[in-house]
Amino acid sequence: MIRFVYFDLDDTLIDHRRAEKAALADCHNHFAKHLNGYALPHIQETYHVHNVPLWRDYGAGLISKEVLQRRRFEHLLHALDVASLAPDELGSHYLRRYRHHWNWIDGAQQAFLDIAARYPVGILTNGFKEEQHAKLERFPTLRERSAAVVISEEVGVMKPDLALFAHAAEKVNVAPENILYIGDSLHSDVEGGRNAGWQVAWFRGDDGLRKDVRVFGDWGEFSIVAG
Ligand SMILES: [Mg+2]
Repeated sequence: MIRFVYFDLDDTLIDHRRAEKAALADCHNHFAKHLNGYALPHIQETYHVHNVPLWRDYGAGLISKEVLQRRRFEHLLHALDVASLAPDELGSHYLRRYRHHWNWIDGAQQAFLDIAARYPVGILTNGFKEEQHAKLERFPTLRERSAAVVISEEVGVMKPDLALFAHAAEKVNVAPENILYIGDSLHSDVEGGRNAGWQVAWFRGDDGLRKDVRVFGDWGEFSIVAG
């Protein structure tokens, strides 16, 4: 029996990856004369190589948000051997362009509304609180329809930490087994949700990897099976 549906935000409802890619492309254009002729795919790849371990350190509480936000561009520029551009200048431009490119994942808005018409719903997301609140302002439907919004930075722990899932369940006063979580990340959403005793639907997942969750590839094909 499902009594509450929590949604992950980035790359489940809002297309974070596409926005990040487009923002890096804008930075590549805007700062072209500083970037030593490196092609955009190399810059995107290098950014990822440095961003992923920084997020891991941030998730483990080893570095602050401010350090993460600065270092990802410091490391990128260092790897590209660029000394003529300040990391903060690149970082500010990136964030402005990132916000500009936010959009729904195809079909996600309609699916969210359909599900919200049948169940109480909420948002459970990792990420920086300023960015996540700004997304909810940009797409007001999300906040209007959500009975609960849980942002990891405001609680002090990140997915897949069980404490965050426990906090989210308590907030809506629903037993873990009666909550469905819909998310795209194997580690944060699927493992986190299942370990917390929630039901999980894995967006763009791999059904060869988990037999205990529903996997779907497209919002158009998704529906909640009553039970
Ligand atoms: Mg996600």
